[in-house]
Amino acid sequence: MHDTPPSVPDFTSWPSFPFEGDLQVKHLDDPVAVEPSRKGEGARECAACSAPDDAYIWVGERWRVRAMDRPTGLPMVLILESRSHLDLGDLPNLLAAELGVMTVRLERAIRSLDGVARVHVNRWGDGSAHLHLWFLARPYGRLQLRGTFLSLWDSILPPISEEQWRENLALVAAWLAEFGGRPLAEPSRIRWQAPSSIAAQLSASASAQEDDAIGVIEAAEEIPEPVGGEDAAAQPSDESTGEPGRR
Ligand SMILES: [Zn+2]
Repeated sequence: MHDTPPSVPDFTSWPSFPFEGDLQVKHLDDPVAVEPSRKGEGARECAACSAPDDAYIWVGERWRVRAMDRPTGLPMVLILESRSHLDLGDLPNLLAAELGVMTVRLERAIRSLDGVARVHVNRWGDGSAHLHLWFLARPYGRLQLRGTFLSLWDSILPPISEEQWRENLALVAAWLAEFGGRPLAEPSRIRWQAPSSIAAQLSASASAQEDDAIGVIEAAEEIPEPVGGEDAAAQPSDESTGEPGRR
C-alpha cells in the first residue's frame, strides 16, 4: 500500500502521448495461474465463425475484411480475418503466404485513400482466438498520431463523417475486389437516401448487443474492460464488451 510507485516512463512526455497532467503507474495484479479462454477458445463462441458475410465489407474464398460498426476517429480501421478458425501460428503455408499478400494489398488500398499517410498493421489476439489483423490509417499531417498510440487516438478524436466513412469503405472494398472476391460496402451516394434504415441494418447485424464498442481499443477487447468482481474471469460469457460486427 505504501509501495513507492515506479516513475512514469519518458514516453508520457512525448508529443504523441495522448494524455497530460499527473500520471501514476498502475499497480500490476499478480499473474494468474491459468488464463481465461479467449473468444472462440474452449467453450466460448467464436464471433468470427458465426458472423455472416454481410457483416463484412469484402469477402473472398479464404479471407474476409470488416469494419467497425460506425465511424471512428481515424479515416479507416479495418480487420482482416481468415475464414478458417485458426490463429496466426497455426496457419498452413498456403494461408500464411496469402496473409502476406492480403496484408500488402489491404495496406495499399487504405493508403490510397485521401488524407492517409500511413497504415499501421497490428495483431494482438488477446481477445479472440480467431486470426484477425488490425489496419489503422494514420491521417496525413497529424504528426502527433505517429507511432504506437494511434489506437488510443482512434477513440479520442471525433469520429469522421458517416459519408466519408462509407465512401472510404466502398473504395477499399472495390480495390480488393479488383483481385477477386466480393465487395459488400457500397458507395455512400446509394445509401445516402435512407441513412436511418442503414443504421438499423447495421445495428441489426450487430445483433442488438449493448456493446458500445467504438474504436480499436474497445472493439478489440485486447485490453478488457474491468468487469468488476474477482470472479469475472471465471464467467467469461458475461464479459462481452466488444466486436459488435462479429456476433
Ligand atoms: Zn472462429
